[in-house]
Amino acid sequence: MKPLTPDDRARYEWQLWAEDFGEAQQAKLKGATVLITRVGGVGGALALQLAAAGVGTLVLAHAGNLRVNDLNRQLLMSPSGLGQPRVEQAAKRLREFNPLITVEPVAENVGDHNVEGLVARADVVACCAPLFSERLCLNRAAVRQKKPLVDCAMYDMELQLTTVVPGSSPCLACLYPVEPPNWKRQFPVFGAVAGAVGCMGAMEVIKLLTGIGQPAAGRMLLCDLKTLAFRQIQLRRHPRCPVCGAT
Ligand SMILES: [Zn+2]
Repeated sequence: MKPLTPDDRARYEWQLWAEDFGEAQQAKLKGATVLITRVGGVGGALALQLAAAGVGTLVLAHAGNLRVNDLNRQLLMSPSGLGQPRVEQAAKRLREFNPLITVEPVAENVGDHNVEGLVARADVVACCAPLFSERLCLNRAAVRQKKPLVDCAMYDMELQLTTVVPGSSPCLACLYPVEPPNWKRQFPVFGAVAGAVGCMGAMEVIKLLTGIGQPAAGRMLLCDLKTLAFRQIQLRRHPRCPVCGAT
C-alpha cells in the first residue's frame, strides 16, 4: 500500500470525512489500478470521478477520433480536438485535473485480441462500452481472472448499473446468454443520463476498492430519468452459464 503524502491529505480532505472512509481507504485508492473501457459520455464521467477521488492508476481503452456529435456528452473532450484521438484528449484532461495520479491511454477498444492483458493489469474493471459484444468480452475475461466488473449501461433516458463479483454474483452472461439482436452502436443519448450512470459506476468502483458500502453484486439498479422512477431487481445466477457456471 502506498503511503499518503501531505498533498494527498490536502486534496482528498473532504472525502476523508466520509463515514467508514479514512486514510487507510484513501491509500487503497492510491495503490489501485482501474481499467475503464471507453471514455465517452459514460466512461468519461466515471474516469473523471475516479481521478477526483484519487485512484492511483487509470488505464483508458478507447479507439477513434473526436467528432462534433460526440460533444453533447463526452465531457473530457474539447472542440479543439476534433479529428484527433479521443483517448489522448481524455488522458490529458485527467492529468491536468489531477497531477497526483497516473493515466495510461490505450488507443484501442476492448476485444479478444487485447482483453486478457488489459484486465490482468486492473484491480477493478469499469465497463462503459456501448456494444454488447464488448461488454460480454470484458465479462468473460473478468470472470476468468476473478476481477470485479462494474457494468454501466444506458439507452435514451434510462440507465442501468450492476456489479459482477466473480465467484459470488451472477455475471453479464447469466443475464445476456446471447447478444441482443439488432443492437446498434448509435442510439439516443443525453449527456446527463450518460454522466449519471458514469458517476454511479465510479462510486461502485470506490466501494469495491476500499470495502465500504455494499456493491450492487446480484442486483441491478434501473433508473428511468424521464419519470425519476428508480428500482432494483435481484439477479439470479444462470445454473448453466457458460462463463461463470463453473466458478
Ligand atoms: Zn454467468
